[in-house]
Amino acid sequence: MRRATLTAITLAVLVAGGGYLAGRFAPPRYSPLAPLDVRDDVVPLVTAVKLARARTDLDYCRRALATSAFKATPVAEISSKQCVLHDVERIAADRSPAFNAGFIATCPLAVDLALFVDHVVQLAAQRDMHSDVARIDQLGTFACRPIVGEGPTAELSQHASANAIDIAGFTFADGEKAMVAADWQGDDAKARFLHDVHDGACGIFPVVLSPDFNAAHRNHFHFDLSGFHFGR
Ligand SMILES: [Zn+2]
Repeated sequence: MRRATLTAITLAVLVAGGGYLAGRFAPPRYSPLAPLDVRDDVVPLVTAVKLARARTDLDYCRRALATSAFKATPVAEISSKQCVLHDVERIAADRSPAFNAGFIATCPLAVDLALFVDHVVQLAAQRDMHSDVARIDQLGTFACRPIVGEGPTAELSQHASANAIDIAGFTFADGEKAMVAADWQGDDAKARFLHDVHDGACGIFPVVLSPDFNAAHRNHFHFDLSGFHFGR
C-alpha cells in the first residue's frame, strides 16, 4: 500500500515536472503556455489546450486571430431579433481562400475556422484534388433561431450566438467544385476530399455535423463550439 502511494506520488511529480519543463522550455508550438499562432502546425493536446483558452479569454483569442489570414474587425454589439451579441468579429470575404460572403463570428469560432482552413482544408485539397481551395461557400453563422429540425420549443442554436458556421462546399483553383449536397455520397476524389475535410474538422471543432447526422444537414457541414466533442 505504502509502495503504491509512493509510486503514485513519484508519477505525479514526474508528470507535473515534465509538463512544467515542456511549458517553460519547449518551442512555442509545443508549449501549452505559449500564445496560439494559427500558422503553427497543429500539435494534439497542446493545440487543444490553446483553443480551450481562446474560448474563455477574449484578449488571448484576439491575439491568436491576429496571426491568421482573416481580415477581422471587432464589433462591440450587434443584434438580430431578440439575440444581442457583444465583442464578436466581422470576418471579410476577401482572403485566400475567399468566402462567398463576409460573416459575423465569435472570436473562438473565427480562430477554429482559421486553423481548419489552413491545416485541414488546404492539405486535403492538395492530397485529394491536387489543387488549392480558392473559395469556401458558407451558408451563415449568425441566425437568432432554435435548433433546426427539433421543433419550435428546441433550445437556441449555436447560430443564435454566432458560434456556429454552415459550409456548403468548396471551389478549387482550377474551377472544380466539391459540394456537400452533390458530392458527399459519391466515391470519387471530391467525396474523398469532403470526408477528409469532415474528419479533420472533428479534430478542431467540438461539434461537427454532416449529411450523415440528419436531413436538415443534407447540403452542408455544421461546425460549432458547444459543449462536448461530437462528430457525425
Ligand atoms: Zn448550422
